[in-house]
Amino acid sequence: MHEMSLAISIVELVSDKAQAAGSEKVTAIELEVGRLSGLMAEALAFCFEAAARNTPAEGAKLLIRELDGRGNCPACRHSFIVDSLLAQCPQCGGYAVDIVQGRELKVVSLTVDDEDEG
Ligand SMILES: [Zn+2]
Repeated sequence: MHEMSLAISIVELVSDKAQAAGSEKVTAIELEVGRLSGLMAEALAFCFEAAARNTPAEGAKLLIRELDGRGNCPACRHSFIVDSLLAQCPQCGGYAVDIVQGRELKVVSLTVDDEDEG
């Protein structure tokens, strides 16, 4: 499953960052997942939970923000929401649409348990 390998990468990334910050525990992770990425947020959350077992990310709260797909039409400069990579411009009917948002998967923020503060 594609989501599983991504979940493992996320766990590795946040575990490294937690360690770099001198923390043993990640408490929350905020992700942005584009609706055109082909990833299912639910599947990703499920895989994350499994991948995080016995790592600093175990039990971390995963917040997934889904980003709409967005396209720009170079012909008429219209910007619009798209739900597929094969989008058609609703204004001029052109198919040469630049997808500018919706394919991302990124960690936008990370909260670690900071033992010095608290
Ligand atoms: Zn257009």
